[in-house]
Formats: sequence, structure tokens, C-alpha cells
Amino acid sequence: PKSKQRQNRSSSQWQQMQENDGFVREAARLGVRSRSYFKIEEIDRRFELFKQGQTVLDLGASPGGWSQYVSSRIGSQGSVIAVDLLDMQPLNQVYFMQCDITQQQAVDELTSAFGERQVNVVLSDMAPNITGNSTIDSRNFSKIHEAIFSVCRTAMAEQGSLVFKFFQDNESSSLREVCAAQFADCKFYKPKASRSKSQEAYMIAKGFNG
Ligand code: SAM
Repeated sequence: PKSKQRQNRSSSQWQQMQENDGFVREAARLGVRSRSYFKIEEIDRRFELFKQGQTVLDLGASPGGWSQYVSSRIGSQGSVIAVDLLDMQPLNQVYFMQCDITQQQAVDELTSAFGERQVNVVLSDMAPNITGNSTIDSRNFSKIHEAIFSVCRTAMAEQGSLVFKFFQDNESSSLREVCAAQFADCKFYKPKASRSKSQEAYMIAKGFNG
């Protein structure tokens, strides 16, 4: 059984590598900035998130794969506001703000720059730095989620949509409850481009009524 276990492990590692390499190669071929690009593409195909002319806020945007995808979907009449702790190389039609979105000052600056209730879609691919201590990690992730909901309350337009990353754990169902209190429809989804071993998944919430 030991050698079978080893075999299983190595074959799943091999499968994982193939899966990852495929997305990495495809990102290089298309000239997109991250393999993450394929996650938002898949989520959009399934949940129909974007329309021409929308205003979209991309939280945790660097190096810019999601912003690239979104700007191609919303066209020249739309706008993308990208936010990250790290710097990001400029992209056409993307306004970039370098800040920590868990700081209230950053949320205030965003709102005063773009006005209240103007954003049609809020996206977040943010995750905290993982310490390996699940209590600390989940507390840090909660801070990020609180910040996302705070942004939605001030910046999101009526009937707006939200996509954010979370880790599948015991807290997942309470996260869905918080979401359901503000959005008509909330669903969990794990895109194929998300590493199968990773705990990460995305919440897709539509119909903001907060
Ligand atoms: N979606 C991006 C793409 O397609 O290129 C990749 C995003 S990467 C997985 C997550 C990003 O979230 C990192 O660049 C990180 O700096 C950012 N981030 C994490 N916490 C943040 C915070 N509190 N405020 C702003 N950005 C944050």
C-alpha cells in the first residue's frame, strides 16, 4: 500500500504540474500578466459579470491579469480602478491606486475619487500573507473580507456584483450568510485554473441591495 500511496501522490503531483504549466504557457502565449487571468475569464463565462461601459473595482490587482481581462470586456466607455499594496505596471484605461484597502483612509480616498454608488462590479483576488497558523490566517482573511464589504457599502451601485477569494474552511457558510444579507444571489465557485490542492475558492454575489 505504501508504494501505491507513493504512486498516487506522484501521479497527482504530475497532474498538478501539467495543469499549472498549461495555464502558465497559455498566459505567456497570450501575453497576459498572470495565470489568474483565466480564473476571472472562467468566472465571467459562467456568471456573466461584465457589460460594456461598466465601472469595475479590482482589489489586489497586481500584476494586472484581472484588470487586463476586465478592460477588454467593458470597452472604451468603461473604467477599471485597480488597487494593490504593491506597484503595478500601467495598463491602458486602468486607473491604479497603491494602498492597503483594509485602511479606512484608502476606502475614503476611493470614494471621494469615484463618488458613492458608482461601481458596478467589485472584484477581489486578495489573500493575506499565509502564516500557516490557521487562526491567524483566518483572522487576517476576515479583515480583508470586512474591508471588501465596507467598500461595497459605500462604492457599489444598486444591483452591483461582487467576486472575492476566500479559503474553504469552517467559516465558509457564515461568509455566505454575511453575503446573502446584502446580495440577492451568492454562490461558491472554484475555477479550473485554481490549483486543485489549494483551499482557495471564489464567492460570486449578484444583485446588491445593501
Ligand atoms: N488578480 C491578480 C492578477 O490577475 O494579476 C493577482 C492578484 S494576487 C493573487 C493578490 C494581490 O493582492 C497581491 O498583489 C497583494 O499585494 C494584494 N493584496 C493583498 N492584501 C491587500 C490589501 N490589504 N490591500 C491591497 N492589496 C492587497
